[in-house]
Amino acid sequence: MADEGLVENFHGLSASERHFADPIVFWDETLRDGEQTPGVHFTPEEKLRVAEVLSEMGISVINAGIPVVSEEEAEAVRRVASAGLKARILAAARTVAGDVDAVIRSGATHIAIFVAASNVHLRYKLKMSQDEVLAASTRCVRQAKDAGLHVAFVTEDTVRAPFDFVERLYLAVKAEGADRLVISDTVGIMTPLTFRWYLREFHRRVAPTDWSVHCHNDFGLATANALTALEEGVTSPHVCVNGLGERAGNTPLEELVLGLEQLYGIRTGLDLSRLYELSRLVEELSGVPVSPTKAVVGYNAFSHEAGIHTHGILAHTLTYEPVQPEVVGRQRRMILGKHTGKAALVEKLKERGLALPDPVLMDLLQRLKTTAEHRSKAELEAFLREYRELFEQPGISNEQFWKLVDELGLGARVA
Ligand code: MN
Repeated sequence: MADEGLVENFHGLSASERHFADPIVFWDETLRDGEQTPGVHFTPEEKLRVAEVLSEMGISVINAGIPVVSEEEAEAVRRVASAGLKARILAAARTVAGDVDAVIRSGATHIAIFVAASNVHLRYKLKMSQDEVLAASTRCVRQAKDAGLHVAFVTEDTVRAPFDFVERLYLAVKAEGADRLVISDTVGIMTPLTFRWYLREFHRRVAPTDWSVHCHNDFGLATANALTALEEGVTSPHVCVNGLGERAGNTPLEELVLGLEQLYGIRTGLDLSRLYELSRLVEELSGVPVSPTKAVVGYNAFSHEAGIHTHGILAHTLTYEPVQPEVVGRQRRMILGKHTGKAALVEKLKERGLALPDPVLMDLLQRLKTTAEHRSKAELEAFLREYRELFEQPGISNEQFWKLVDELGLGARVA
């Protein structure tokens, strides 16, 4: 590339001191954890459309859902599993024989068997002892292995569980034949430093060969934590398109992949040029709008308005863009507004072949700024009002819910 040498980069430093897995096995959770985003529901057709793009881009493992959830969910998993996609299709199960059976019947080749591990989950949610959790886990891993499935074993809330129990549990399922061990930061409380310590300790105690991390974004650290995990040799990060998922969501696929490629110089083998198309598809089907300032796929990620910035970009894009928008299938936008400078205006006027003398140019610039400063916000305000109404109560509305109750004739009963 002709631009080489224009900026310092840190690829050498970040990549050489670490031991990244090769290949990195991307495990997409958009259709499972992503669908658990409040108010989100994908039809089987929609799941298939997303899975097709993920697979074409080079994603290795796609979690299509939890077949035991509903008849439609089982149908969705069957549709995705039988579509002949290049990606491996995974379905999830609790440590319950019937759940594992439902995955076996779905046609998925991969299963994720999950159970909670921390004391707070065992005591208040599962009401199971550690020994009971361990027995159910090994039993279900054996059941899935006997059916010929590739088995990932997942604990929820791994990082808040007693380490001695985690060690005992994972060693037991490993001995039972579990192929991939998944560590979850279910409530997103790790930082890169604490996660690094955790993963090294896990590696010392359990010696996994194929291991995954499931990071949540409650403190905005999911991408940083997933990158840390990959630095530590974790083979298979969980990701969600647009960072969908429970609460503040999961590690955004687009951020993790672009970070690996651009900050570490790692070739992921994924087709990055389809990241934006994928993001837009999932935005439409999930109905969850992407924030304008969202990294990589937000409207403003490659937009420039401020005079100093547009001047720099017009002279050379490396001044204010760490990566070219085309890399992720996007285009740069130059926004005219209050902060516009002369350089952007000169460039804009070229669209009509206009080259104005300086005084005229400065007059136009002044008018443009004044217009921008007095632009009505009414349209945006109306849009935001509607947006807030929709998102303050997603899912089934109160009205719909009480109608369901009334239809059962339950309105007259008193507790
Ligand atoms: Mn999760």
